[in-house]
Amino acid sequence: MTPLAYLKQQLGAPPCEDALTAYQQWWATTGRALSETIDRWGTPTLRQHDRYGQRVDEILLPAGYTELVQEGYKHGVVWRVIEQQDWAASFALGYLTAYYDSGLYCPHTVSLSTAVPLLKYGTPALQERYLTPMLRRDGAAWQGATWMTEVGGGSDLGANVQTVAVPDGDAYRLTGAKYFCSNVRAELAVVAARPQGAPSGVRGLALFLAPRYREDGSLNFTIRRIKDKIGTRAVITGEVDLHESVGYLLGSAETGVYLILEVLNISRVANSVGSVALIQRALDEAESFAQGRIVFGKPLAEQPLMRTQLARWRDTLECAFALAWAPVRLLAEVWAQTPPYSPRYHLFRLLTHLAKYWTAEQAVQAAKWCMEAHGGAGVLEEYGVERLLREAMVLPIWEGGSHRQMLDALEAIQRRNAGALLLEHLAPYADPAELNEWRARLDAYLQQPPDAQEAHLETLIPPLAEWVARTLRRRAV
Ligand SMILES: Cc1cc2nc3c(=O)[nH]c(=O)nc-3n(C[C@H](O)[C@H](O)[C@H](O)COP(=O)(O)OP(=O)(O)OC[C@H]3O[C@@H](n4cnc5c(N)ncnc54)[C@H](O)[C@@H]3O)c2cc1C
Repeated sequence: MTPLAYLKQQLGAPPCEDALTAYQQWWATTGRALSETIDRWGTPTLRQHDRYGQRVDEILLPAGYTELVQEGYKHGVVWRVIEQQDWAASFALGYLTAYYDSGLYCPHTVSLSTAVPLLKYGTPALQERYLTPMLRRDGAAWQGATWMTEVGGGSDLGANVQTVAVPDGDAYRLTGAKYFCSNVRAELAVVAARPQGAPSGVRGLALFLAPRYREDGSLNFTIRRIKDKIGTRAVITGEVDLHESVGYLLGSAETGVYLILEVLNISRVANSVGSVALIQRALDEAESFAQGRIVFGKPLAEQPLMRTQLARWRDTLECAFALAWAPVRLLAEVWAQTPPYSPRYHLFRLLTHLAKYWTAEQAVQAAKWCMEAHGGAGVLEEYGVERLLREAMVLPIWEGGSHRQMLDALEAIQRRNAGALLLEHLAPYADPAELNEWRARLDAYLQQPPDAQEAHLETLIPPLAEWVARTLRRRAV
């Protein structure tokens, strides 16, 4: 089944259907081949100096790369949100992208996660200068990036962000180094840094917009290197040095940590949608192989054990889709909120953590199973099935790892009453007995000492996420 056909099956009439049809057609005729070329032969390289010795930090791109990345912008992965607040359209486009190239959805995601805070918190002058070119539809849209992580570690940003921001007129000067910088050739990045004199810990962090070039055309930051990765080769990930780089504060320094989390939460919704697309791709690949491969006298797909596995993955795909799409719906409702947030936002956040956690874990398992279902052919580079696993492996790691999602889900339950909000949200579709059972289970869980609540999270979050997914799926049918 094509990803668009699956979207139609799940959503009825999907948003921007004409654009989705055209985008899928482009993938079938052009995008797929470009993506495979870039994965296998097209790793971009960094030219740091020109022939005269000037620092230029040019990324040398394989032919076709620009078209590959720009097509999603043309169809509206960013402008449909900024101009029309059509979140569903953006995530539906993302679903198509991730079905064909999971890693490529990263540049689109981080561009969206740059554009939204610029829309919410940027001054009109910043928007005019930096947001407007992100909305171009001519194949030259400016891209964004979201750089928080430093070499000490990404989970504990409060302890590890060493980048300092010093006020300078109406802007700041940022000095530090970012260790994981996806979409490193973007024209803009939102960057976590600590304003000089701000308190230590995560509450002292703020969010800044750092353009790649200064007003005079010189480089605003330099790229130390591009990283070699097992997958996601369609996104260029590098390390960046900020040396008194110009940065514009978004929102206020006091609420900076919330803005950083808003950025991450948009990316987590996209990660969930992308994970589901990867599950669908793995299932489609396995199904088509199993129909053609003859084992013990009949197609593999007709062997009872394989039939059971195929049916189980179809079921998981539907549950994963329902779980991933719930935060999409809620984000469309709550995206404009600023701190302090409403209960609806906390519900969105809990669903986002559950979805990011569960769909990413399922995507890895689906990719592994798809490889196994292909037997030895699954391991061979020439068939591209192994790529699904290489792509999937990062899904539970970036945008906050699975531990982080479980811990943040717990925090939302403990401190924001999000467990009760979730049960209330599910009440119309849930089995009443199951609902009561979960109410009692959550209450009992919260009676444990805090350390025990963290230590035993794997007894709570995975089954909760799966139950929520199954319940939401029931709403869809
Ligand atoms: C390909 C790629 C691209 C990336 N692009 C970007 C980017 O563009 N911008 C950006 O900011 N970051 C980016 N990242 C970084 C990513 O977000 C981090 O890798 C991730 O947040 C985890 O941080 P870490 O790698 O430093 O691991 P650490 O924070 O050191 O964590 C190590 C392990 O400990 C676990 N852990 C952490 N805290 C706890 C706890 N309390 N209890 C139990 N376990 C815990 C983590 O889940 C992880 O498994 C990228 C990463 C990759 C791999």
